[in-house]
Amino acid sequence: MGLIVQKFGGTSVADTDRIRHVATLVKREQEAGHRVIVVVSAMAGVTNQLVGYCSAMNPLVTDEARANYDHVVASGEQVTSGLLALGLQQLGLKARAWCGWQMPLVSDAMHSKARIDRIATEAITASLAAGEIAVVAGFQGVTGDGRITTLGRGGSDTSAVEIAAAFGAERCDIYTDVDGVYTCDPRIVKRAKKLHRISYEEMLEMASLGSKVLQTRSVELAMNYGVKVQVLSSFDDRPADSIPGTLLVDEEEIVEQQRVTGIAYSRDEARITLTNVENRPGVSAGLFGPLADAGINVDMIVQNVTEGGKETDITFTVGKTDLARALEIVKTDKRVPNYDRVHSDAAVAKVSVIGVGMRSHAGVAAEMFRTLADKNINIIVISTSEIKTSVLIDESYLELALRALHTAYGLDAEEEKN
Ligand code: ADP
Ligand code: ASP
Ligand code: MG
Repeated sequence: MGLIVQKFGGTSVADTDRIRHVATLVKREQEAGHRVIVVVSAMAGVTNQLVGYCSAMNPLVTDEARANYDHVVASGEQVTSGLLALGLQQLGLKARAWCGWQMPLVSDAMHSKARIDRIATEAITASLAAGEIAVVAGFQGVTGDGRITTLGRGGSDTSAVEIAAAFGAERCDIYTDVDGVYTCDPRIVKRAKKLHRISYEEMLEMASLGSKVLQTRSVELAMNYGVKVQVLSSFDDRPADSIPGTLLVDEEEIVEQQRVTGIAYSRDEARITLTNVENRPGVSAGLFGPLADAGINVDMIVQNVTEGGKETDITFTVGKTDLARALEIVKTDKRVPNYDRVHSDAAVAKVSVIGVGMRSHAGVAAEMFRTLADKNINIIVISTSEIKTSVLIDESYLELALRALHTAYGLDAEEEKN
């Protein structure tokens, strides 16, 4: 029997009772003959609380502030890894808790969104050989010169997949509070259906367009390294190999391709519009260059030339947390072209339909626009790629839009999930 990685998210380790339950799920894998590395998140709500403490102290705009932020927010995972190791010992098993810096799991120095460079496997390999279960604090790493880093919100998924790849694990089981990946967030669309399999490509789009069930980077890594990832519920007591969760697979393994596999949404973006911008070469570079220099990601962009062609309106979206900084740049940076007015709106949401079947089926986008029009929902910006179409809408219509689209693409389950 080989090695498996089990990852437990925040709600799965929300309190000591849940952690005790997780210990039984780990014990079962060891009793089945596996060597086990467990990766844990902080207890539900803890990371948000720690982030709140940091923001109360400092606006966190400098690199140095973000380094100290990482020092604080990484602590939540240290607590759960220790508690789970204690719980396992209480069940009569040998277990040891590990922080990122002890392995070490070495990352770059992009504090608050670091990327893993390498994982040293020697120490944990020796510990496993001695019959210990390794309980690793997810979400955290260490720079080459010894500073603690974190891997971005939701980053324990990425720790787990990267560890599974580094140790050549047979499986990486991501335990969470839903029993798999659904056609849409089951907390909003009660008729969402569980997908027994989803292609890496589609999961990557779903995650990057807002489905936080897996961190985007973890899906990217699983796809690149061919890690066998399944998403399943820690609230289901059956053994992992008999729980029907969702398995990430190569596209070729999905025989029946739907036009649309899933619908994702994000409330994380805000819109900025500049009106009557002078229309000449270099205008976009003058606007988006300074934003990029400030590390602000721009997602959707639409540009409309006004009648006569002399001026143009430009609308684009940035992360809500970057809105104030982006507006400041638009108003003050000398490189930004002349314009009449700037207005912004944070009460917007992005809705995306995703499916590899879009490569071969025409009309998916048109159906999206018709469905939204029938519900009187105005589309502010549209963007498309090979396997997705996204629209920006007023946030107050988000739930209505998701349900209407879910029905229109024939994704509804017979019964509502409660
Ligand atoms: P964890 O703490 O275990 O990492 P997360 O909260 O990060 O859990 O992710 C699980 C949540 O992802 C679910 O509770 C669900 O609301 C949300 N989610 C969003 N989109 C989907 C989807 N398409 N399928 C399943 N869950 C989804
Ligand atoms: N605890 C971290 C977060 O809340 C990492 C994770 O849960 O994956 O973002
Ligand atoms: Mg998560």
